[in-house]
Amino acid sequence: MNVLLIGSGGREHALAWKLAASPLLTKLYAAPGNPGIAQEAECVELDVSDHAAVVTFAKEKAIDLVVVGPEAPLVAGIADDLNAAGIRVFGPSRAAAQLEGSKGFTKDLCARFDIPTAAYGRFNNAPKAKAYARSVGAPIVIKADGLAAGKGVTVAMTMSEALDAIDACFEGAFGAAGAEVVVEAFLEGEEASFFCLCDGKTALPFGTAQDHKRVGDGDVGPNTGGMGAYSPAPVMTQEVIDTVMSQIVRPTLSGMAQMGMPFTGVLFVGLMMTAEGPQLIEYNTRFGDPECQVLMMRLKDDLLVLLNAAVDGQLAHMSTRWRDEAALTVVLAAIGYPDAPEKGTVISGVDAAEDGRDDAIVFHAGTKLTEDGALVAAGGRVLSVTALGKDVTAAQANAYALADAIDWPGGFCRRDIGWRAVEREAV
Ligand code: ATP
Repeated sequence: MNVLLIGSGGREHALAWKLAASPLLTKLYAAPGNPGIAQEAECVELDVSDHAAVVTFAKEKAIDLVVVGPEAPLVAGIADDLNAAGIRVFGPSRAAAQLEGSKGFTKDLCARFDIPTAAYGRFNNAPKAKAYARSVGAPIVIKADGLAAGKGVTVAMTMSEALDAIDACFEGAFGAAGAEVVVEAFLEGEEASFFCLCDGKTALPFGTAQDHKRVGDGDVGPNTGGMGAYSPAPVMTQEVIDTVMSQIVRPTLSGMAQMGMPFTGVLFVGLMMTAEGPQLIEYNTRFGDPECQVLMMRLKDDLLVLLNAAVDGQLAHMSTRWRDEAALTVVLAAIGYPDAPEKGTVISGVDAAEDGRDDAIVFHAGTKLTEDGALVAAGGRVLSVTALGKDVTAAQANAYALADAIDWPGGFCRRDIGWRAVEREAV
């Protein structure tokens, strides 16, 4: 099979690495890819926001499957345009991607199909949003409705913070994404992520993970795209997974089908483990980055077989097998991230660090090769250093040993990725 992978992050490097291992694969292309992905695929210059250009490329290269990594092309309808041209694609339609693209859409779906989530209101003007927020009281959560790259959510501990966040949304801080605001009750508990592959009718559980959104050790500082993750998430016991499947995932899949927008792709279920049981915080309609890196490290099965089954509506006949070990990834970011990451600093020792190891991989994200072959930083999150271990504590030690073997004075990482699980394992 010829496969086109869309994206350029650590998530896509992990997907490329797994796809390249499939005996079904003839040729892998990546648009735009990165220097790590280039070790597995032919990277092509293709403007992925130009769907007609993607269709033309797919036809020219006889692409059998397009795999879409990030959310923005999905929300922009790339799957619809590829499907309309007769090209198979793994990823939801624009309508189904509203599960990620509109928080209000997802909250309404939860209300309609009785899916456990925080109480909420949806507003298109500040006075009504503020009146609702005051009636609920702080702490309270204010969310811009649309995609805001993780910045559109304020967990307000005081009412004045909540009112300021409402004003910021309606004053355009998040552009069109903030034209509507969701105000929701604050949920208390531990967060975890759960993934399912979906084919429109069937959801196949596809692993659990916990990530670390804040930039600093001890979960302090600004939010980021994610500074590290590990899998499995200890809070996601089989009993919890069964509850989430029956109360949250299956009603979502059947509800979406009933509304005429069946969901195909990865359903990323963001959960809060509350005293009343697991509640839905959010859906994403693609793999998480860096969660994907730890899932791919643990997946024993052929990813391409599974993605084909999802596209062909055959997931009811599939199962998955996972390595017993834990996987942990540490993101190395450029100094200044997330505000102003410094670009162009030289990174050395990546190949030597992973040489000869089959239990650890350095996935590339924002890297670039200069004309004279030096690897340099070209983004905020730059490398995703991923390792296996018999438990999270061992995987953490392996990942940090690998990170420390990389020579990059222009980068930094959190030193406490996995702390919750490590604390649990110590008792
Ligand atoms: P964006 O749309 O801007 O990319 P996002 O999709 O990351 O943001 P959410 O996942 O909905 O937004 O929220 C971000 C974080 O805020 C969550 O990971 C969680 O820590 C916190 N949060 C969201 N909703 C609640 C809630 N109801 N109670 C407590 N914390 C919450």
